[in-house]
Order: sequence, then structure tokens, then C-alpha cells
Amino acid sequence: MPVTRDATLDWMKRFAGEMAEHRAELVALDTAIGDGDHGTNMNRGMTKALEKLDGAEQADPGAVLKTVAMALVSSVGGAAGPLYGTLFLQMGGALAGETEVDLPRYAAAWRKGLEGVQARGKAQPGDKTMVDAMTPAVEALEGASDLDSGLQAAVQAAEEGMKATTPLIARKGRASYLGERSKDHQDPGATSTYYLFKTAAEALAG
Ligand SMILES: [Mg+2]
Repeated sequence: MPVTRDATLDWMKRFAGEMAEHRAELVALDTAIGDGDHGTNMNRGMTKALEKLDGAEQADPGAVLKTVAMALVSSVGGAAGPLYGTLFLQMGGALAGETEVDLPRYAAAWRKGLEGVQARGKAQPGDKTMVDAMTPAVEALEGASDLDSGLQAAVQAAEEGMKATTPLIARKGRASYLGERSKDHQDPGATSTYYLFKTAAEALAG
């Protein structure tokens, strides 16, 4: 089953739902090693994104993701707005004009998004950021033989990547100011990225 406009809308609605449900968890994670705003920011940004999606009709998956990007960039400060905004903008651009997106195109859009996030945030795998959940998940999609199994493999890879941030010392973002004291905490950005893949599997797998 290809990724359609309606499935992409469902994905973004589910992601907004997870950001609302896990707002306090993300705030707690970010309070430990950052400034505590990640859950509040993501919840506000995705609430705004849903308003924008409801307010106008999008033609295809790329247009849905671009609408979300614009809403996040205009409503979320700190690092999360620009980074998630870049992710969705790059993904949306990669899917421009596509109405039925297959696995290779979907994986390629994620790769573009990841490249955009890395260009913007200058983070490499192992720096204790969202990149640590996203990189193995994108690789899982790229290595899959069909969309459904690719999405399931991506969720598992994102979850493992998220958990693997716990022992790391942060080298990017506000957490990096803590040095050694950033150890033994799961990264909030990697956690929200895990929810993005979790909801992708729920919405886009057949
Ligand atoms: Mg923060």
C-alpha cells in the first residue's frame, strides 16, 4: 500500500496526539538535560500544524508535510521548531507532486529530511540528539523490501537508537553544556523522533 495524502494526514494527526499524550514525559526528559521546553514546544507546534491542515486542503503527501513544516517553524522556538521544520520541509520537497509514494521514494524523502536536520543542527550519530533515533530508522527503511516491513523495522531501530542515547555524553544542543552530567539521561529529541516513526508505522503500514 503506497503512502497517500490521507494516510499522511492520519500520520500527522497521530503524531500530534502522541506529542499531547507524552508532553509531560518530554518535558521531564528535557528538564534533566536541557531547558524543559521540548514537550510543550512539540505539543504547541503540532496543535498549530493540525489547525493549518484543517484550514486548507492539501493535494498530496508532500503538501501535508510542508504545511506541518511551516506551522512548526512559525510557532516553535528553540531547536525543535527549526529542526523538525527542516525535516518536514525537506521530506515534503522530496515528495512534491507524488500522490502515491512507494517505499523507495518514502525512504529517499526521509534521507533528504535527515540530511537537512544534520545540515541545520551539525549533529552526527552519537552526539545524543534526534539524529541517533533517525539515522538507524532511515537506514532500516532503505534496507527494506516492502513498506510495511520497512516501517516496522524503522520503529524498532528508532526505539533502539533512542534508548542508546542514555549513556551518551551530549555533544550538541543545550545538553552539551552539561558535559559528563548529561550521561544517564535519554535524549528528548530522540524520544520525540521515536514517536514520529511509531505513528508512521501505525498510519502508513497496511
Ligand atoms: Mg529544550
